[in-house]
Amino acid sequence: MKQEWEQSSKAQVGSQAVGTGAPMDALHIWNGQATAAAAEAWTEEHLAASRACVAELLAVAGARTVANTLAPFDRAQWHLRMAGSQTGVMFMVHPAAGVRDAVQGLSQAVSAESVALGLNREVYQALAAVDVAAEDAATRYYMERVLLGYKLSGVDKDDATRERVRELADKMTELSMSFSRTVQDDVRRVPVDDVNELAGLPEDYLTRHGVRAEGGSLRADVPVVLTTDPPEMSPVMAYAGSRELRRRMYLQYNDRGYPANKQVLLDLLRLRGEMAELLGFRSWADLATVDQMMGSAENMRGFLGEVEEAAREVAATEYAELEAFVRERDAAALPLTLSDARYWEEQFRRTRYDFDSQSVRPYFPYEQVEAGILATAGKLFGVRFEHAADAAVWAPGVKAFEVIDALGADGIVGKIYLDMHPREGKSKWFSECSLVGGVVGKQIPEASLVCNFPEPTTDDPGLMQYSDVVTYFHEFGHLMHEVLGGRQRWSGQSGIATEGDFVEVPSQMLEEFFEDADLLRTFAKHYQTGEPIPVETVQRMTRASAHGRALSTLTQVMYATYSMETHDRAAAELDLDKLLREGYDRFSKYEFVDGNRMYAAFTHLVGYTSNYYTYLYDKVMALEFFAEFRGSGEATPLGGETAMRYRRQVLEPGGTRPARELVQAFLGRKVSMVALKGWIAAGAA
Ligand SMILES: [Zn+2]
Repeated sequence: MKQEWEQSSKAQVGSQAVGTGAPMDALHIWNGQATAAAAEAWTEEHLAASRACVAELLAVAGARTVANTLAPFDRAQWHLRMAGSQTGVMFMVHPAAGVRDAVQGLSQAVSAESVALGLNREVYQALAAVDVAAEDAATRYYMERVLLGYKLSGVDKDDATRERVRELADKMTELSMSFSRTVQDDVRRVPVDDVNELAGLPEDYLTRHGVRAEGGSLRADVPVVLTTDPPEMSPVMAYAGSRELRRRMYLQYNDRGYPANKQVLLDLLRLRGEMAELLGFRSWADLATVDQMMGSAENMRGFLGEVEEAAREVAATEYAELEAFVRERDAAALPLTLSDARYWEEQFRRTRYDFDSQSVRPYFPYEQVEAGILATAGKLFGVRFEHAADAAVWAPGVKAFEVIDALGADGIVGKIYLDMHPREGKSKWFSECSLVGGVVGKQIPEASLVCNFPEPTTDDPGLMQYSDVVTYFHEFGHLMHEVLGGRQRWSGQSGIATEGDFVEVPSQMLEEFFEDADLLRTFAKHYQTGEPIPVETVQRMTRASAHGRALSTLTQVMYATYSMETHDRAAAELDLDKLLREGYDRFSKYEFVDGNRMYAAFTHLVGYTSNYYTYLYDKVMALEFFAEFRGSGEATPLGGETAMRYRRQVLEPGGTRPARELVQAFLGRKVSMVALKGWIAAGAA
């Protein structure tokens, strides 16, 4: 008889995945020879193990039980998730192009296998025949979600429909990967013929590009060519005094993926529309929200309207102030366009709050920030991080840490990897990725951050922008959710397994801690003098960075509306450019820049599809959550009673309960717009 996860009490944390035939080193695709063939063999092993679990489930004769049906189903899912997540991550990070190519194809094969399992009627019928009435609440909820998932994939439709659904799903995967790959590979070059266009940029940025100041102007011995990679692009948009350079960079950046991705996106939207119709939904936006907290496209439209309402008036004031500021200094710069926005907002903040965002960078050298975030998260969540120097990683410079529960006797509760700096061929994004799904008592969860922060070198400490540090907090919030939610009976409920539109709450909540001066001073120390960042500087930084919240909220409403409308209208009638223009005209105060085709690089349309609203929806909840910390009256938010309640009631349940119940448990009430309105108002003060 095969050993069940839930029966193998002897299995030790980190030991082999029991009952699957997969040996211990089968946990990590990168651990072994870094070749396409090895990656293929590894993936095939997990696919085979998954199929074996399905076969075991289907071979059962007699009464269907949780042990003989749901358990092997969950193991089948665990293997698929392993194969899917690790091939997906290696596609983003592997240093060898040959391996990236191979895992891209493998990842597609894993998706196809998942889709096939999701459409397997015998498996569905077997699961539906299990009586879970006497099981614990988590198991009952798991079964409810699994069966709902099956219905949403069309399992109860006729054979021809199911076949078409499978075809559509496969094609959608292919198009999605092609879209993302095109964006990832499309790095544009922005030549700078007159180096004086770089005036205003930070000194280390100039040095990195071989530019020096000489007799009141800038000089370079070799031609300067910038790229659209975020670490090159972002400072130009915020600091370059040259309007022309900003405009060129903006257009190149927002042209990535074009023209190829325009047709890919239209095809993808058409297939999604057809899929929704086949499954009995009015639109993809309805289909994609029915199993979310949001529930429907109509609710989404209502929610976005409420947020717009909360921000509109303040946004008008913010923009009027900015416009007056620009008129005083350089009337010819008006009207402001989208490629001027960040630069002038930065200038405005500098003057009004006497705050130069460059001035705080010396307090944020990369290594110190990393240590500070680990220490902060450790105190806040009651864990410790131990550097696992011997752990196998996929590229030099990637660090692994064991996460140790500092509260109980649980020992190692997870493993995290930090892949934090740019590398050739590596994804340009900032993300958190699951690597190994956790199962309580059997397998600890493993997850990674994939980021692109400046890399420290012997003569450059890798000074970060404060917005980079906020991003770091954000991604770490996901990581802690993954780890602390990673101890469930069912792997399908483990880690970040809540409804998709709840996942940005823990990450956005952690961002709010960045404003705590006492906390920042524990690690934000000047890299040359060791002096902690002055409290007064933190206050100015906080006020300055808050300015413009209403404007940026409306920008988010615009993106969310674009994501919704592209998935709520008939694809045949869709004009991507016209819709984009309409969105900017309605929500943005800045003038549209002709040639902006940002949809061709808007990878959220692939991942989040219609549900980009998630960021705003979760911001509302994250702010209400953070208010609990503020309102608790505790001397320190770290490691206090509220923090423990948060860990226990929000993070640790993973996906074992509907997110609405997690919110109710932590807040003791429903979510309101109060905290969001307060947050927006603070930005205009
Ligand atoms: Zn996030």
